Amino acid sequence: MEIFKDIKKFKNRRKEIKKTVGFVPTMGALHEGHLSLIKKSKLENEITIVSIFVNPTQFNDKNDLKKYPRPLKKDIKLLSDEKVDILITPSYEEIYPDGYRYKLTETDFSKKLCGKFRPGHFDGVLTVVMKLFNIVKPDKAYFGEKDYQQYVLIKEMAKAFFLDIEIVACPTVREPDGLAKSSRNLLLNPKERKKASLIFETMVKNISDESVKKILNENGFKVEYVETINDRRFVAAKLGNVRLIDNIKISRRKE
Ligand code: AMP
Repeated sequence: MEIFKDIKKFKNRRKEIKKTVGFVPTMGALHEGHLSLIKKSKLENEITIVSIFVNPTQFNDKNDLKKYPRPLKKDIKLLSDEKVDILITPSYEEIYPDGYRYKLTETDFSKKLCGKFRPGHFDGVLTVVMKLFNIVKPDKAYFGEKDYQQYVLIKEMAKAFFLDIEIVACPTVREPDGLAKSSRNLLLNPKERKKASLIFETMVKNISDESVKKILNENGFKVEYVETINDRRFVAAKLGNVRLIDNIKISRRKE
């Protein structure tokens, strides 16, 4: 696997690549969710490029950014075992030579759900993804349904800005007890980890959003939202200091 920290060097290398390129942007602390995106990219493209960049502009909470796990050596081993072709791990200074003076804002859906509770979050996400797209120039880019709102916003951004990039959604990979795999699960203590599966257990039930919220709050979660939009139920809840999100397509909903 080739590893590039330096964007200029990577861009020179990119010019030589005439094959189809699949791209998987990540913040590292890789797990099977990330690996499922990589496997799909490898099936559908001749070259797969992964980025690891913990993007400060999408963290509205400084403490959350500080404690975000960064096991880079372990990640590199996982990626080379998956036979990823190229990894890029740029620094903040390289990604934001403008000091984040320029940013990309969506004014509607990005203000709902997570956007309502994490001001500026999706500005950071869309800005960094656009920068990474311009650096990597992929044919296809892979995003998890785990972050469904993010997937929709990126897909619509690609359309709005006439990007020749196919945005591919990949199903959420879960733990055996239903908890969506997430880098943040590493931050849960054993008691919290056990309780965390209640999010999935409750959200798939054929009960109202309000009832889901009530059950989770009664069980020690601090629920930010439970909301159903177009047959998809979205949940965000904190367990201790750890913020967990999930969503699921639902066919029926009644009390
Ligand atoms: P992150 O490193 O959290 O920014 O995630 C990088 C990519 O992996 C995003 O497109 C996520 O939606 C995706 N992803 C994270 N967790 C999962 C999961 N459990 N199943 C599927 N995709 C995931």
